[in-house]
Amino acid sequence: MGVLDPQFKRALAERVRYYNELGIYDFYRRDPAGTNLDAVPHTVDPENLAIPSEQRDLMTPRSKAAGAVPVEDVSEVPSPKPESSVTDPVQALRLIREDIGDCTRCRLSKQGRKQIVFGVGNPNAELMFIGEAPGADEDQQGEPFVGRAGQLLNNMIKAMGLRREDVYIANIIKCRPPGNRTPERDECETCSPFLMRQIAAIKPKAIVALGAVAAKTLLAINAPMSEFRGRWFDFRGTKLAVTYHPAFLLRDPRQKKETWKDLQMVMKELGLAIPAKGVE
Ligand code: URA
Repeated sequence: MGVLDPQFKRALAERVRYYNELGIYDFYRRDPAGTNLDAVPHTVDPENLAIPSEQRDLMTPRSKAAGAVPVEDVSEVPSPKPESSVTDPVQALRLIREDIGDCTRCRLSKQGRKQIVFGVGNPNAELMFIGEAPGADEDQQGEPFVGRAGQLLNNMIKAMGLRREDVYIANIIKCRPPGNRTPERDECETCSPFLMRQIAAIKPKAIVALGAVAAKTLLAINAPMSEFRGRWFDFRGTKLAVTYHPAFLLRDPRQKKETWKDLQMVMKELGLAIPAKGVE
Protein backbone atom coordinates (compact mmCIF):
# COMPACT_ATOMS: atom_id res chain seq x y z
CA MET A 1 0.00 0.00 0.00
CA GLY A 2 1.48 3.34 -1.02
CA VAL A 3 1.12 6.67 0.74
CA LEU A 4 -1.62 8.85 -0.74
CA ASP A 5 -0.84 12.29 -2.04
CA PRO A 6 -2.56 14.93 0.14
CA GLN A 7 -4.85 16.24 -2.62
CA PHE A 8 -6.14 12.77 -3.44
CA LYS A 9 -6.51 11.98 0.24
CA ARG A 10 -8.63 15.12 0.77
CA ALA A 11 -10.76 14.39 -2.27
CA LEU A 12 -11.27 10.82 -1.14
CA ALA A 13 -12.21 11.98 2.35
CA GLU A 14 -14.81 14.32 0.82
CA ARG A 15 -16.22 11.46 -1.14
CA VAL A 16 -16.40 9.20 1.91
CA ARG A 17 -18.13 11.92 3.90
CA TYR A 18 -20.60 12.52 1.10
CA TYR A 19 -21.53 8.84 1.11
CA ASN A 20 -21.71 8.79 4.92
CA GLU A 21 -24.22 11.64 4.69
CA LEU A 22 -26.29 9.49 2.36
CA GLY A 23 -26.21 6.78 5.00
CA ILE A 24 -23.61 4.70 3.15
CA TYR A 25 -20.82 3.36 5.31
CA ASP A 26 -19.56 0.20 3.63
CA PHE A 27 -17.64 0.28 0.38
CA TYR A 28 -16.95 -2.45 -2.14
CA ARG A 29 -14.10 -3.08 -4.45
CA ARG A 30 -15.72 -4.22 -7.67
CA ASP A 31 -13.93 -5.73 -10.62
CA PRO A 32 -14.69 -3.59 -13.67
CA ALA A 33 -16.21 -6.50 -15.61
CA GLY A 34 -18.74 -6.88 -12.78
CA THR A 35 -18.11 -10.59 -12.40
CA ASN A 36 -16.17 -10.66 -9.17
CA LEU A 37 -17.66 -13.43 -7.06
CA ASP A 38 -15.51 -12.44 -4.13
CA ALA A 39 -16.66 -8.86 -3.59
CA VAL A 40 -15.66 -7.94 -0.06
CA PRO A 41 -17.09 -5.02 1.89
CA HIS A 42 -14.64 -2.47 3.22
CA THR A 43 -15.41 -0.01 5.93
CA VAL A 44 -13.02 2.74 4.90
CA ASP A 45 -10.68 3.81 7.65
CA PRO A 46 -10.11 7.49 6.89
CA GLU A 47 -7.24 7.52 9.39
CA ASN A 48 -5.40 5.27 7.02
CA LEU A 49 -6.49 6.14 3.53
CA ALA A 50 -3.82 4.17 1.74
CA ILE A 51 -5.45 2.83 -1.39
CA PRO A 52 -3.62 0.61 -3.88
CA SER A 53 -3.05 2.51 -7.10
CA GLU A 54 -5.25 0.18 -9.15
CA GLN A 55 -8.28 1.22 -7.11
CA ARG A 56 -7.83 4.96 -7.54
CA ASP A 57 -9.51 5.21 -10.92
CA LEU A 58 -12.55 3.44 -9.48
CA MET A 59 -12.85 6.12 -6.82
CA THR A 60 -12.31 9.28 -8.87
CA PRO A 61 -13.51 12.22 -6.76
CA ARG A 62 -16.79 13.74 -7.89
CA SER A 63 -16.97 16.33 -5.17
CA LYS A 64 -18.31 19.07 -7.45
CA ALA A 65 -21.15 16.96 -8.78
CA ALA A 66 -21.90 15.77 -5.28
CA GLY A 67 -21.87 19.31 -3.89
CA ALA A 68 -19.64 18.14 -1.07
CA VAL A 69 -18.05 20.63 1.33
CA PRO A 70 -14.25 20.42 1.43
CA VAL A 71 -12.94 18.83 4.58
CA GLU A 72 -9.73 20.00 6.14
CA ASP A 73 -9.32 17.30 8.71
CA VAL A 74 -9.61 13.74 7.49
CA SER A 75 -10.02 12.46 11.06
CA GLU A 76 -13.47 14.07 11.34
CA VAL A 77 -14.83 12.15 8.35
CA PRO A 78 -16.31 8.91 9.68
CA SER A 79 -19.69 9.21 11.30
CA PRO A 80 -20.42 5.99 13.18
CA LYS A 81 -23.69 4.32 12.27
CA PRO A 82 -26.25 5.38 14.88
CA GLU A 83 -27.07 1.77 15.72
CA SER A 84 -23.43 0.68 16.12
CA SER A 85 -23.55 1.01 19.91
CA VAL A 86 -26.72 -1.04 20.44
CA THR A 87 -27.05 -4.82 20.43
CA ASP A 88 -30.84 -5.11 20.63
CA PRO A 89 -32.11 -5.56 17.04
CA VAL A 90 -35.42 -3.84 17.87
CA GLN A 91 -33.58 -0.73 18.95
CA ALA A 92 -31.10 -0.98 16.08
CA LEU A 93 -33.92 -1.17 13.52
CA ARG A 94 -35.61 1.82 15.12
CA LEU A 95 -32.39 3.84 14.84
CA ILE A 96 -31.94 2.85 11.21
CA ARG A 97 -35.54 3.86 10.46
CA GLU A 98 -34.93 7.21 12.18
CA ASP A 99 -31.75 7.69 10.16
CA ILE A 100 -33.71 7.21 6.93
CA GLY A 101 -36.22 9.85 8.02
CA ASP A 102 -38.52 11.20 5.32
CA CYS A 103 -35.88 10.29 2.78
CA THR A 104 -35.17 12.49 -0.24
CA ARG A 105 -31.81 10.94 -1.10
CA CYS A 106 -32.92 9.82 -4.57
CA ARG A 107 -35.37 10.86 -7.26
CA LEU A 108 -38.05 8.39 -6.09
CA SER A 109 -39.00 10.76 -3.28
CA LYS A 110 -40.29 13.15 -5.96
CA GLN A 111 -41.87 10.57 -8.23
CA GLY A 112 -45.10 9.80 -6.46
CA ARG A 113 -44.11 7.50 -3.61
CA LYS A 114 -46.58 7.84 -0.75
CA GLN A 115 -44.35 6.48 1.99
CA ILE A 116 -41.16 4.63 2.79
CA VAL A 117 -41.59 0.86 3.08
CA PHE A 118 -38.99 -0.05 5.66
CA GLY A 119 -39.44 -3.76 6.34
CA VAL A 120 -41.59 -5.98 8.50
CA GLY A 121 -41.33 -9.03 10.71
CA ASN A 122 -39.35 -10.53 13.52
CA PRO A 123 -36.25 -8.46 14.42
CA ASN A 124 -34.72 -11.72 15.71
CA ALA A 125 -35.63 -13.70 12.59
CA GLU A 126 -33.42 -16.56 11.45
CA LEU A 127 -34.65 -16.07 7.91
CA MET A 128 -34.96 -12.91 5.82
CA PHE A 129 -36.65 -12.53 2.46
CA ILE A 130 -35.51 -9.68 0.27
CA GLY A 131 -37.49 -8.48 -2.72
CA GLU A 132 -36.99 -5.71 -5.20
CA ALA A 133 -39.14 -2.67 -4.50
CA PRO A 134 -42.55 -1.80 -3.08
CA GLY A 135 -45.48 -1.85 -5.49
CA ALA A 136 -48.75 0.11 -5.30
CA ASP A 137 -50.24 -1.93 -2.44
CA GLU A 138 -47.04 -1.76 -0.42
CA ASP A 139 -46.77 2.00 -1.00
CA GLN A 140 -50.37 2.39 0.22
CA GLN A 141 -49.93 0.24 3.32
CA GLY A 142 -46.28 0.93 4.17
CA GLU A 143 -45.50 -2.79 4.38
CA PRO A 144 -43.55 -5.00 1.95
CA PHE A 145 -45.25 -7.82 0.07
CA VAL A 146 -48.89 -7.18 0.90
CA GLY A 147 -50.29 -7.38 -2.66
CA ARG A 148 -50.77 -10.46 -4.85
CA ALA A 149 -47.06 -11.26 -4.87
CA GLY A 150 -47.18 -10.94 -1.09
CA GLN A 151 -49.97 -13.51 -0.86
CA LEU A 152 -47.78 -15.91 -2.78
CA LEU A 153 -44.79 -15.12 -0.57
CA ASN A 154 -47.01 -15.89 2.43
CA ASN A 155 -47.80 -19.28 0.84
CA MET A 156 -44.09 -19.93 0.38
CA ILE A 157 -43.41 -19.10 4.02
CA LYS A 158 -46.30 -21.29 5.14
CA ALA A 159 -45.07 -24.18 2.99
CA MET A 160 -41.81 -23.96 4.92
CA GLY A 161 -43.73 -24.48 8.17
CA LEU A 162 -43.22 -20.85 9.22
CA ARG A 163 -45.49 -17.87 9.77
CA ARG A 164 -45.01 -14.46 8.15
CA GLU A 165 -44.32 -13.01 11.58
CA ASP A 166 -41.45 -15.48 12.14
CA VAL A 167 -39.36 -14.07 9.29
CA TYR A 168 -38.24 -10.57 8.31
CA ILE A 169 -39.23 -9.17 4.91
CA ALA A 170 -37.68 -6.19 3.17
CA ASN A 171 -36.77 -4.88 -0.27
CA ILE A 172 -33.62 -3.60 -1.95
CA ILE A 173 -35.21 -0.16 -2.21
CA LYS A 174 -37.77 1.37 0.10
CA CYS A 175 -39.78 3.57 -2.24
CA ARG A 176 -42.12 2.59 -5.04
CA PRO A 177 -40.68 3.34 -8.48
CA PRO A 178 -43.23 5.03 -10.79
CA GLY A 179 -45.30 2.47 -12.69
CA ASN A 180 -43.51 -0.29 -10.79
CA ARG A 181 -40.54 -0.04 -13.13
CA THR A 182 -37.32 -1.87 -12.24
CA PRO A 183 -35.20 0.19 -9.84
CA GLU A 184 -32.29 2.03 -11.43
CA ARG A 185 -28.81 1.08 -10.38
CA ASP A 186 -28.16 4.42 -8.64
CA GLU A 187 -31.44 4.07 -6.70
CA CYS A 188 -30.31 0.63 -5.50
CA GLU A 189 -26.88 1.98 -4.59
CA THR A 190 -28.35 4.87 -2.63
CA CYS A 191 -30.96 2.87 -0.76
CA SER A 192 -29.50 -0.61 -0.26
CA PRO A 193 -26.96 0.44 2.42
CA PHE A 194 -29.93 0.84 4.76
CA LEU A 195 -30.98 -2.71 3.98
CA MET A 196 -27.40 -3.85 4.68
CA ARG A 197 -27.68 -2.22 8.09
CA GLN A 198 -31.03 -3.94 8.71
CA ILE A 199 -29.41 -7.27 7.87
CA ALA A 200 -26.48 -6.50 10.18
CA ALA A 201 -28.94 -5.64 12.98
CA ILE A 202 -31.10 -8.76 12.54
CA LYS A 203 -28.23 -11.18 11.89
CA PRO A 204 -30.37 -13.85 10.21
CA LYS A 205 -28.99 -17.35 9.69
CA ALA A 206 -30.09 -17.27 6.06
CA ILE A 207 -31.28 -14.79 3.47
CA VAL A 208 -33.46 -15.57 0.46
CA ALA A 209 -33.12 -13.08 -2.37
CA LEU A 210 -36.31 -12.97 -4.41
CA GLY A 211 -35.51 -12.47 -8.07
CA ALA A 212 -32.57 -11.22 -10.07
CA VAL A 213 -32.60 -7.58 -8.97
CA ALA A 214 -32.27 -8.55 -5.31
CA ALA A 215 -29.61 -11.16 -6.09
CA LYS A 216 -27.54 -8.88 -8.32
CA THR A 217 -27.64 -6.00 -5.87
CA LEU A 218 -26.82 -8.03 -2.78
CA LEU A 219 -24.07 -10.09 -4.39
CA ALA A 220 -22.71 -7.46 -6.80
CA ILE A 221 -22.72 -10.15 -9.47
CA ASN A 222 -24.27 -9.68 -12.88
CA ALA A 223 -25.56 -13.15 -13.73
CA PRO A 224 -28.80 -14.78 -14.93
CA MET A 225 -31.17 -16.51 -12.48
CA SER A 226 -29.96 -19.91 -13.72
CA GLU A 227 -26.54 -19.18 -12.20
CA PHE A 228 -27.95 -17.85 -8.94
CA ARG A 229 -30.35 -20.67 -8.10
CA GLY A 230 -29.57 -23.99 -6.43
CA ARG A 231 -26.50 -22.95 -4.47
CA TRP A 232 -25.45 -20.99 -1.44
CA PHE A 233 -23.64 -17.66 -1.59
CA ASP A 234 -21.79 -15.99 1.21
CA PHE A 235 -23.19 -12.57 2.02
CA ARG A 236 -20.93 -10.96 4.61
CA GLY A 237 -20.79 -14.21 6.57
CA THR A 238 -24.49 -15.05 6.12
CA LYS A 239 -25.75 -17.79 3.83
CA LEU A 240 -27.73 -16.40 0.92
CA ALA A 241 -29.92 -18.34 -1.51
CA VAL A 242 -31.74 -17.02 -4.55
CA THR A 243 -35.14 -18.04 -5.84
CA TYR A 244 -37.74 -16.72 -8.24
CA HIS A 245 -39.60 -13.55 -7.35
CA PRO A 246 -43.24 -14.30 -6.41
CA ALA A 247 -44.44 -11.85 -9.10
CA PHE A 248 -42.66 -14.01 -11.66
CA LEU A 249 -44.31 -17.11 -10.20
CA LEU A 250 -47.71 -15.45 -10.62
CA ARG A 251 -46.94 -15.14 -14.32
CA ASP A 252 -45.42 -18.61 -14.64
CA PRO A 253 -46.87 -20.87 -11.89
CA ARG A 254 -45.10 -23.93 -13.33
CA GLN A 255 -41.89 -22.59 -11.80
CA LYS A 256 -43.32 -22.99 -8.28
CA LYS A 257 -41.87 -26.47 -8.10
CA GLU A 258 -38.43 -25.03 -8.82
CA THR A 259 -38.94 -22.49 -6.05
CA TRP A 260 -39.94 -25.30 -3.73
CA LYS A 261 -36.56 -26.95 -4.41
CA ASP A 262 -34.81 -23.70 -3.47
CA LEU A 263 -36.86 -23.36 -0.30
CA GLN A 264 -36.12 -26.95 0.68
CA MET A 265 -32.41 -26.18 0.47
CA VAL A 266 -33.02 -23.27 2.86
CA MET A 267 -35.14 -25.40 5.21
CA LYS A 268 -32.39 -28.01 5.41
CA GLU A 269 -29.91 -25.32 6.37
CA LEU A 270 -32.26 -24.01 9.07
CA GLY A 271 -32.99 -27.51 10.38
CA LEU A 272 -36.69 -27.30 9.46
CA ALA A 273 -38.69 -30.46 8.78
CA ILE A 274 -39.58 -30.78 5.10
CA PRO A 275 -43.28 -31.49 4.46
CA ALA A 276 -44.34 -33.33 1.34
CA LYS A 277 -46.51 -30.45 0.14
CA GLY A 278 -44.85 -27.62 -1.77
CA VAL A 279 -45.81 -24.03 -2.67
CA GLU A 280 -49.41 -23.54 -3.79
N1 URA B 1 -42.52 -6.87 -5.04
C1 URA B 1 -41.40 -6.66 -4.33
O1 URA B 1 -40.29 -6.90 -4.79
N2 URA B 1 -41.55 -6.16 -3.13
C2 URA B 1 -42.70 -5.89 -2.57
O2 URA B 1 -42.73 -5.43 -1.45
C3 URA B 1 -43.86 -6.16 -3.34
C4 URA B 1 -43.74 -6.64 -4.57
